[in-house]
Amino acid sequence: MDVIRKKRDGRELTSAEIEHLVSSYTRGDTPDYQVSAWLMAAVIRGMSRAETAALTQAMLYSGEVLDLSSLAGAKIDKHSTGGVGDKTSLVLAPLAAAGGLIVPMISGRGLGHTGGTLDKLESISGFNVNLPVSEFRRILRACGCCMIGQTAEIAPADRKLYALRDVTGTVESPNLICASIMSKKLAEGIDGLVLDVKTGSGAFMKSQDDAAYLAQLMVETGERMGKKMLALITDMDQPLGTNVGNASEVEEVIEVLRGRGPADLIDLCLELAAWMFVLGSVSGTVSEGRKLAEKLISSGHALNKFREMINLQGGDSSVINDPSRLPKAAHSLQVVSPASGYVDAIQCEHLGTACVLLGGGREKKEDCVDPAVGLAVHKKVGDQVSRGEPLCTVYYNQETRAVRAKARIEESYRITPDRPGDRRPLIHRVIGSSGEKN
Ligand code: URA
Repeated sequence: MDVIRKKRDGRELTSAEIEHLVSSYTRGDTPDYQVSAWLMAAVIRGMSRAETAALTQAMLYSGEVLDLSSLAGAKIDKHSTGGVGDKTSLVLAPLAAAGGLIVPMISGRGLGHTGGTLDKLESISGFNVNLPVSEFRRILRACGCCMIGQTAEIAPADRKLYALRDVTGTVESPNLICASIMSKKLAEGIDGLVLDVKTGSGAFMKSQDDAAYLAQLMVETGERMGKKMLALITDMDQPLGTNVGNASEVEEVIEVLRGRGPADLIDLCLELAAWMFVLGSVSGTVSEGRKLAEKLISSGHALNKFREMINLQGGDSSVINDPSRLPKAAHSLQVVSPASGYVDAIQCEHLGTACVLLGGGREKKEDCVDPAVGLAVHKKVGDQVSRGEPLCTVYYNQETRAVRAKARIEESYRITPDRPGDRRPLIHRVIGSSGEKN
C-alpha cells in the first residue's frame, strides 16, 4: 500500500489519499493490519495541519452530519481528551441541559489507560448508548440531553479507528486525537464545543506544550467549520475525584449532582459548565455561569435531568436513589503506604492501567469490560500519610487480576518525608479563538 510507505518515509499525503484510506477502511475493503501500520507511521512521523484537516473531514463525512436546527436552544457539547477518573461528561450533560442548553453528546469507550463515558453509562442496567439518530433526536427534544456512541450513521470511521488505536499503541498523536474527537463532535450538529484537554502523567498529552498544541489544533478545526470553540487545559497528574472504575464513577457522579463529592471534580464540572453556558449565551460571564451551575445542582434540577435522561435511554434510574443497585465487585483489598510522609507524586497512567488490568478496560479489542471493578483513591498529591495507612482500595472479581493491579498501584505512589511544594493548579490554561485567555 503506497500510503503506508509514504507515511513511513515521512512524506505528506494528499487529501485524496487520506479520503481513500478512510473510506476503504470504513467499508471493510482495507484490513486492520494495514491501517494499524499506517496509524503507527502517522504517530511516529507526525501529520501536517493539512493532513489533519483532511483526515478530520474524511472521518466526519464517513457518516451523517446531523442538523438539529429544528430544536430550540443553543447546541453546546463538551469533550475531554481522556483521563483517569474523569467522569465530568456524566455530570455536564444533565447539568447543561437543566440550564437550557441542548447537549447532543456522542462519546467514546475506554481508550488505552483512560476510561470511557459509554462504558460508565452502561454500568447502569438497561442504559442504551446504541440509539439510532431518530431516537437521539427524539430524546434531545424531550429532555435536552442524550449520550450515545458513534452509530453506523455518525462518524463510523472513527468508531473503527478508535477501537483499532486502543489496542495498537497508536492513541498518543495530537493529529489522530484531533481528527477522532472533532469528526464525532462536528457530526453532532452543535453550535459550540468546550474542550477539556488533559495534561500530566495520566493524560495522552503529558506536557503542557503538547496539550496546548492539541487544543489549538482542535479550536482551529472547529472554528473553520463555523463553531464556537473554547479549550481548557486541565490537570491529569492524578486521578480526578476519588473513584476510578465504571460503576463507582457513576456513583460519584450522583454524589456531585447531589451537591456533594470531591472538591476537584466539583470545581472542574462547575468551570466546564460555566464555559458551556457562556458559549451558548445563557450566561454573560464565566462567574455568572458558575453561579447558575451551582444553583442547578442545589435545586436538584440537574439530578432530575440525569434521572430523566436515564429513563429515556432505557436505564434503571432507581440507581440515583439507591446507588447500591449498581454493579459491585465481590472482593476488595487495600494498598497501604510503605512509609510515613507525604504523597509527592502519583504516576496516574499506572493507576488507569491498574483499572484496565482489573478488567475495567480493554486489553484487546474484543474484551468485555467488568463494570464493577475499580479503585477508590484515598490519598492524593500533597496528602499526609502514615506507614500502613491505605492509599487506595482495589475492588476486584478475580484474584490474579488484583495481584497485577496492586503491583501497579504500589509503583505509582511516591512518598517523601517532606511536605511537597505547591500543588499543580487544576486548570492550567484557557485557549480560545484568539489564543491564550489568561
Ligand atoms: N477521545 C477521543 O474521542 N478520541 C481520541 O483519539 C482520544 C480521546
